[in-house]
Amino acid sequence: MDKVFLISYSEIGLKGGNRSFFENTLIRNIKKTLRKFPDVSVERTHGRIYVSVGTNTNEAIERLSKVFGIAYISPAFVTGLDLVQAKSASLKLIKEYGDYTDKTFKVETRRPNKSFPYISPEVSREVGAYILSNTDGLEVDVKNPEILINIEIREKIYIYINKTPGLRGLPVGTSGKALLLLSGGIDSPVAGWMTMRRGVEVSAIYYHSFPFTSDRAKQKVIDLCKVLSEYSGSVKLFIVNFTDILKVLNKDIPSKYLTISMRRLMMKIAEQIAIQEGALSLITGESIGQVASQTLEGISVSDVVTKLPIIRPLIALDKEEIMDIAHNIGTYNISTRPYEDCCTVFVPKHPKTRPNIDEVETAEIKLDHDELVKNALSDIEIMNISNDNF
Ligand code: ATP
Ligand code: MG
Repeated sequence: MDKVFLISYSEIGLKGGNRSFFENTLIRNIKKTLRKFPDVSVERTHGRIYVSVGTNTNEAIERLSKVFGIAYISPAFVTGLDLVQAKSASLKLIKEYGDYTDKTFKVETRRPNKSFPYISPEVSREVGAYILSNTDGLEVDVKNPEILINIEIREKIYIYINKTPGLRGLPVGTSGKALLLLSGGIDSPVAGWMTMRRGVEVSAIYYHSFPFTSDRAKQKVIDLCKVLSEYSGSVKLFIVNFTDILKVLNKDIPSKYLTISMRRLMMKIAEQIAIQEGALSLITGESIGQVASQTLEGISVSDVVTKLPIIRPLIALDKEEIMDIAHNIGTYNISTRPYEDCCTVFVPKHPKTRPNIDEVETAEIKLDHDELVKNALSDIEIMNISNDNF
């Protein structure tokens, strides 16, 4: 009897002709995150992935639960085609499940292998009875069981309980690349994570404004990339020196347009790097109405500076929902470290909340966008932040 993890995936199952591309990428990501374990084997059969990891089970579950594309990570046993073995494996599985006292259960059997001499209901009944007579406190509930033991009879017998839910989504590497405008705040790391979850390989760009913003603000962004890389393997981070641009804006732009012009320049610089990197889209952490510059009018005047589509995964979420995700994914405590960002340092007292493109262009009349972008592009630090765990 072999102990394995059965990895089930939901959305990939729906992919038609491209399915094997998605499966192969998922397998590659699983192998990558488990590469430190000496006895790993990853196999694909019957639309599922079976992973065997030797003894490092808890750590393996923890790692697998950060791989996008997985619906469930289920402890499973594989036995020979033998009802006696299936019974004892099922009992073992439920004993390893955790505290099952006062829980209800059901055994459900599928038998694609019709040469097996017992039909599915017989197997379910036999195994169920065996479990009942060898445990205390379990009850059968065929309609709404708390624990569902699945038995699949194929060339071997596979027995599993869907236990740890995965993050779902699509495997990173199946949806192209995008560039995340990453500040040290709460929102943008969440936006990056949500886009990663759709299979996108995310790089990040951070506009650093030393000495207006300290190196601790930069460290925050590096640490956020480390957290994001736990989900993707690695994040390439571009740190752009934004100080000169801020000085120019502060001098040449009426203060109420400062945030808007700053955002427009951020988009323009990001567009150039995205093109160099083969990224097809930019990502921001904006959400309608959250701050003065995130009105629909504010968003539309920054949209027009780039031809690239801008992904805004948080656009219709409210702050509480965003904070919940930040907590769950592990970025919240880093984002709330009390270091300033350039937007808070330079935030105008009376920002323009409903700008239109003509007045913004008039306000920017003294700016030479191309020159500013060119200079910014010549002063970039690049870091490859990878995660040992992936
Ligand atoms: P966040 O929590 O992500 O900082 P925010 O609510 O503070 O977002 P803004 O300050 O209006 O919002 O910024 C909007 C978006 O612009 C951010 O979500 C981020 O994508 C991008 N952005 C802002 N500041 C920077 C920066 N210094 N470097 C890179 N991107 C930035
Ligand atoms: Mg911010």
